[in-house]
Amino acid sequence: MFVLSSPSGAGKTTLSRALLAEDSLITLSVSATTRPPRPGEIDGVDYYFVSTDQFQAMVDGDALLEWAHVFGNRYGTPRSPVENALAAGRDVLFDIDWQGTQQLQQTDAASDLVRVFILPPDLAELERRLTMRNTDHPEVIAGRMARARDEISHWGEYDYILVNDDAETCLNELRSILKAERLRRKRQLGLAGFVRDMLGQ
Ligand code: 5GP
Repeated sequence: MFVLSSPSGAGKTTLSRALLAEDSLITLSVSATTRPPRPGEIDGVDYYFVSTDQFQAMVDGDALLEWAHVFGNRYGTPRSPVENALAAGRDVLFDIDWQGTQQLQQTDAASDLVRVFILPPDLAELERRLTMRNTDHPEVIAGRMARARDEISHWGEYDYILVNDDAETCLNELRSILKAERLRRKRQLGLAGFVRDMLGQ
């Protein structure tokens, strides 16, 4: 369970898309949200865009692994796609905030978690990226800047911290983390049999 968190505009979406495009062993956990789609966003690909009632039904039915309020909307991780992917031996990428990460940390799956936090080079650059994206109203951007400070204050709850001054460097660092975490003994499930066979036991 590979978690990427960052304040909006730190480049997390670009990085996660690049990683997903090149690595067939990792699947994105598509979140449900009550926020309206931005131009270009596709239902079922970027998010499941749901009504407040539909979201509440998922909460009541225990269909979400975690959920949180972000910018006045609700966001949550549908449980069954994640459980199915993990059961099939696949890795799952989560683009969720610090609140969701804390909730995953409190589940039985905590030992499966690898938590990565992406920092922008500085706050002025973050504001520039949010303004350039130009999909949100100015007051929404101001709100996101305020929330960025709050999100950043949780960096200490993550296993790895990347500073995204250069997307390609950051992507390489992300690849290295994924590679190293996959090599951990506990994640190499066939290893005991492999070594037994090697030793003829
Ligand atoms: P955006 O509206 O920009 O797509 O996302 C806003 C924030 O919500 C981002 O920090 C993103 O990581 C977070 N987020 C997206 N999906 C989920 C989710 O399923 N759970 C939680 N806790 N946060 C999410």
